[in-house]
Amino acid sequence: MKPENIDLQMEYPCPRCKRGQLQAIILTDAFGCDRCSQIFGLTEDNQTLEQLSTSYPYKKAWQWTGASWRDQSRGLNHGYYPLVLAISALIPLVWLPFVLQSKSGLVTFTFTVVLIVVALTIGLARRSRP
Ligand SMILES: [Zn+2]
Repeated sequence: MKPENIDLQMEYPCPRCKRGQLQAIILTDAFGCDRCSQIFGLTEDNQTLEQLSTSYPYKKAWQWTGASWRDQSRGLNHGYYPLVLAISALIPLVWLPFVLQSKSGLVTFTFTVVLIVVALTIGLARRSRP
């Protein structure tokens, strides 16, 4: 869906707490939430809302689709996930020669693989949720 321009005259739900209302802050290109007190800035093209915060190493950002906010966050989250995947895939390979030496090791190994698969599935499901 194509993102719509964000209008400072309009009222939007808060993308963070989902329950508050965003209100334009007078004389700025920013919104404040009346509930969680977060401040959000507009990008120059008026299509992306960014959370103004210095406490995160990455920026949370959203685009308005006309009915709801679509998460556009970038930075740590996106670069970090493939790394976790790669490490998770490597761990069983490194372990394999050791655990195959005993029968109980094999059980532990199988259990660990199942756990990793479940964790990854949950992670992916969370990521694809709007
Ligand atoms: Zn809020």
